Amino acid sequence: MALITRTRPPIARAVVSAAEDFSWIRRMFEAGIALKEEHGVENVFDYSLGSPNINPPRSAIAELKRILDDPGKHSYMQQPGFPKVRQQIADHLTEEQGLTTPLTADLLMMTCGAAGAINVVLHSILDPGDDVLTPAPCFVEYQFYTQNHGGNLVPVQTKPDFQLDIKALEEAFTPKTRAIIINYPNNPTAVIYSEESLRQLDELITRKEEEYGHDIYLLVDMPYGRLVFDGAVVPPILKIADKHAIYITSHSKDLGLAGERVGFAALSPSLINPSALFGAMTFSIRTLGFINAPALMQRWVADMQGQMLGLDEYTARRGVLLPALRGMGYEIVDPRGTFYIFPKSPIKDDVKFCKAAMKYNILLVPGSGFEGPGHFRVSYSSIDIPQIERSLDGFQALAREFGL
Ligand code: PLP
Repeated sequence: MALITRTRPPIARAVVSAAEDFSWIRRMFEAGIALKEEHGVENVFDYSLGSPNINPPRSAIAELKRILDDPGKHSYMQQPGFPKVRQQIADHLTEEQGLTTPLTADLLMMTCGAAGAINVVLHSILDPGDDVLTPAPCFVEYQFYTQNHGGNLVPVQTKPDFQLDIKALEEAFTPKTRAIIINYPNNPTAVIYSEESLRQLDELITRKEEEYGHDIYLLVDMPYGRLVFDGAVVPPILKIADKHAIYITSHSKDLGLAGERVGFAALSPSLINPSALFGAMTFSIRTLGFINAPALMQRWVADMQGQMLGLDEYTARRGVLLPALRGMGYEIVDPRGTFYIFPKSPIKDDVKFCKAAMKYNILLVPGSGFEGPGHFRVSYSSIDIPQIERSLDGFQALAREFGL
C-alpha cells in the first residue's frame, strides 16, 4: 500500500487552534475525572459545573406525560416553533418586562437553548470580519459562537465591581462593530448590571448607529434572569433598549432543563426592521441544522413560564458558602444572582491556584477561562450543603497556603 504524505492536519485548523487555546481547561476537567475515580465522587467537591441538579416537580412530570400521549405533535412544525407556545411566552414576557408595545409570536423564536439562539442571531446579522463587543469577564463560548459566523469577539473589561464600563465600551467601537452581547446576572461574576448603565449603553449604541450608518444589535443573554437573591431587581432590557434589544434565554437554569435544549429569542418590535431579521433567523435555524427546537419541550415549557426551580436551595447553598469564603479572607464582589461566586485569586496566577485546589479535592474554574484573570469561579449549581460544608476545610487550607 502506498504511503500517503499528509500535507494538512485531519482537523480544521481553526478548531485545532481554538482547542489548543483551551487545552488547560480540558486537562483540568480530565484531572477532575481522575480525582473522582481515585477518591470516589462523594469525596470530590465539584464546583466546576454550571448544570443544575434540581428536578422538575411531580406535577410538571405528569403534564409532560400528558403531552407525550397527545398524538400528532412530534413532527416538523413552522421553523420558529408552535404559534400557540410562542404567543403564550410572548404574553408572559410582555408582562414581566412591563412593555406597553406587546411582544408578538411572529417575532419570538423557540430555539435549542440560549446557545442555539445566539448562533441563529449571529448567523443572521454578521458579515465576515464584523466585530461583536462583550463586557468581560464573560461566558467563554461567545468567542466560538462569534467565530462560527465569521466575526471577532472583542472583550471589553468591566469596572473593578464588574459593572459596565461605558467609556471603555465606547473606545472599543469601530465601524466594524455589528453587535454587543451582554449577560446579566452574569456568568461568571454573578453581577446584575445597573439600569443606569444599561440606559447609557443604549444611548451609546444609538450614537454609534448614527455615526456609522448601520444597525447595531444588543443581544441580551438572560438564562439566569430569574435566579436572583434578596429580591434583586433585574432591569427590563426590552423596555430600556427597545430600539436594539434581542432578548435571549433558555430554560437550562430556571427549570433545570440544560440537557433538553430549549430556549427562545424574542425581537423587540421597535428594532428597525424586525420582520426582516426574523425571516433571516427562520432561514438560519433551519440551515444551521437545528431545524427547530424540540417539539415536546416547547409545549412543556410554555406552561412553566416565570418559574424558578430550586431558588430556596440555591439561596441556602449561597448562605453557607459566601460568608464562609469571605470569613477566610477571600475578596468577593457581591453575587446578586446566578449560582456562581467569582472571588479574587489570592495569587495572580489563577490557573496555579485552581491546580492547588485539587490537592484538597476541590474543582474550580480559573477566571482566565472567562477573560477574567486573577479570579476563580465557584459554581454551587450541583453540590449540596453537606458537601459544601465538608469542602470548607480545603478552602481554609488554601487560604492559609496563599497567605490570606
Ligand atoms: N449563556 C450563558 C451566560 C451561559 O452561562 C450558558 C450556559 O451555561 C449559555 C449561554 C448556554 O445556555 P444553554 O445551555 O441554554 O444553551
